[in-house]
Amino acid sequence: MVEKITATYRFDRLDQTLSQLNREDCIIMAGGTDVMVLHKSGRGVPLKLPKPLIFIDHLSELQRVYQNHKDLHIGACCTYSELLEHPLIPVPLKNAIKTIAAPAIRNRGTLGGNICNASPAGDTLPLLYVYNAKLLLRSVTGDRIVEISDFIQGPRRVQRNQNEILAEIILPSVLEEGAHVVFEKVGNRNADAIAKVGFAGYIRISDARIEDVRFAFGAVGPTMVRSIDIEKKLVGKTIPLANVDIAQVVAAFEKIIRPIDDQRSTATYRKTVALNLLRYFLSKKQYQEN
Ligand SMILES: Cc1cc2nc3c(=O)[nH]c(=O)nc-3n(C[C@H](O)[C@H](O)[C@H](O)COP(=O)(O)OP(=O)(O)OC[C@H]3O[C@@H](n4cnc5c(N)ncnc54)[C@H](O)[C@@H]3O)c2cc1C
Repeated sequence: MVEKITATYRFDRLDQTLSQLNREDCIIMAGGTDVMVLHKSGRGVPLKLPKPLIFIDHLSELQRVYQNHKDLHIGACCTYSELLEHPLIPVPLKNAIKTIAAPAIRNRGTLGGNICNASPAGDTLPLLYVYNAKLLLRSVTGDRIVEISDFIQGPRRVQRNQNEILAEIILPSVLEEGAHVVFEKVGNRNADAIAKVGFAGYIRISDARIEDVRFAFGAVGPTMVRSIDIEKKLVGKTIPLANVDIAQVVAAFEKIIRPIDDQRSTATYRKTVALNLLRYFLSKKQYQEN
């Protein structure tokens, strides 16, 4: 018996790719580092694909990094290795990328793929949440822009229509903001490990007063944990923060961080580490722009 071969498409241009997606529901393949794992069927055996595959990793329209006023636009199909080399990419994002997998995966894996895969342990996601990233989705009918926190709905669940491609990730005001931003990942080792906990902190200070502050936690819930209500309580406070203020914020996050036990870690460990990372970030005496 001849096995049925699933159709694959690789168009030269983005508009042709979008037209095909408008006609037919396909699996989009960027670097393929998640798609290949998700659909693997056995050693030496071709992937088992429920739908046709459409390649997008070669499309130059999805590989540009550019500045538009103060905003940074990153093409969804830029690989991690390309982003590490690019002068416009903020250092904290490069630091997060350096913790992802090993160079071979970083040569294939893309930022857009990390977002659309929507894993709770996706390493770029905590930072993209604190950068208030917006996503530009393109289809034959035009573009729409959506907040990353609205796009990601749960593990492997995103708000993408069948005919859309994530074209760009937009980091608003990131190029002139003067904020101190950190990313921390706790895993079994420093590289090539999936996160047990991820944390991103963002703080902008003027004359020792907090103008803006944001936190996001990864791998401790179905999506990134962020609370704008808790963040607002710190705006206007003076650095260094009083112990009572730090304790209040940590207690507020303790109520909303609800991790699970799995093969990588326990809920108790994850929660303790997440809150320790937050406490450490809030206890700093000074914050340098980066
Ligand atoms: C050995 C190994 C180690 C890894 N280590 C890490 C790690 O440390 N940290 C981490 O965060 N991840 C890790 N990953 C996961 C993976 O490498 C990343 O999530 C990567 O960013 C996925 O990008 P990709 O281009 O390969 O995505 P793909 O596999 O091509 O796609 C992933 C998903 O996104 C969709 N998609 C991709 N691009 C678009 C687009 N532009 N528009 C719409 N939909 C799109 C695809 O249809 C698919 O559902 C690892 C994977 C492997 C195999």
